[in-house]
Amino acid sequence: MAVRGWTRAVLTKYATGMASGPDQKHHQRQTLNRALPDPAELAAGIRSGSRSALARGITLVESSRADHQAIAQALLAELLPETGKAVRLGLSGTPGVGKSTFIEAFGRLLTGKGLRVAVLAVDPSSARTGGSILGDKTRMELLARDPNAFIRPSPSGGTLGGVARRTREAMLLAEAAGYDVILVETVGVGQSETSVADMVDMFVLLLAPGGGDELQGIKRGIMELADLIVVNKADGDLVPAARRAQTEYQAALHLMRPKTPAWAPHVLLASALKGEGLDKVWQAAEAHRAALTASGDLARLRADQARAWFWTELREGLISTLKSDAKAAALMPELEREVEEGQSTPTAAARRLLDLVFGTAEQA
Ligand code: GDP
Repeated sequence: MAVRGWTRAVLTKYATGMASGPDQKHHQRQTLNRALPDPAELAAGIRSGSRSALARGITLVESSRADHQAIAQALLAELLPETGKAVRLGLSGTPGVGKSTFIEAFGRLLTGKGLRVAVLAVDPSSARTGGSILGDKTRMELLARDPNAFIRPSPSGGTLGGVARRTREAMLLAEAAGYDVILVETVGVGQSETSVADMVDMFVLLLAPGGGDELQGIKRGIMELADLIVVNKADGDLVPAARRAQTEYQAALHLMRPKTPAWAPHVLLASALKGEGLDKVWQAAEAHRAALTASGDLARLRADQARAWFWTELREGLISTLKSDAKAAALMPELEREVEEGQSTPTAAARRLLDLVFGTAEQA
């Protein structure tokens, strides 16, 4: 398999590149083993359900080092047949709406049913703020200690595309490790909801009671992504407001075109704090999966997602190939300036660059 050959080449290069002295050899071999695990061995560890093997696999997936990436891709290729079995749920909501409280309670409900739950995150803001959702150890303390749960903070740094790719790959590894439910959390930042909706089967939007004004603040595009809306904090004095919000959101959903005739998005009430309504959310997730499986939509959705991901990878790969070409990189600022100053059209400038690197761009 091509990817294995590539890994071997990188491993060999890395190994032979190390200095060698008789007494250093043992230490270096150990360091090498620790730094660069064998993909087949690591795959076996992940398959057996070892949390440390899974964590290590995800670390490789998240690394930008070429030798780590080579192993990560070999690992994914090895484990690919064991992926795809989990229920993939996305969860979004603005800070303070109760996401971590919800995930903790919902996750524990699921582990209580004997399911294994992995919680991942996509937080493109973590690069800017230095922190990250799920990064705080005090969040989801009980779930974090649950042997049937695995929590991994958002990979930090890089573009949203890069963060999303690493989370997708982490999801595949968690599936191969036998997790039954993958929960991918995100905050309402930029396009992060869209990226998460593009990698899960069902996208759940968590909202707070508020109605009117609140409804105005939610972007229509995000409502359209939702397969299920959960109005959280439906407890105590907030119950009437939560009910009103439910009616309003339900009316708003009726005006939107459903993603598939097999599933009508709807609105549920819950209290993450009191653990109420969470079973209904899980029932909805199960009903959604059953409906989309029966209609063939689940298989289609995942195929579409995989194809779109392939094109994203291709686009990003091409851009980085261009950027790593010395001649192209030198020409880029000049072309950007020409475009900015109106001396060149963006199309012509892009073609010049492509011609330089590939020599195959068609002439207009
Ligand atoms: P996140 O920022 O979306 O992760 O929100 P948190 O889970 O940290 O919750 C923000 C605040 O809302 C905390 O003070 C929680 O205790 C509170 N909260 C979360 N869920 C509920 C709920 O169901 N009912 C009530 N009354 N408060 C809640």
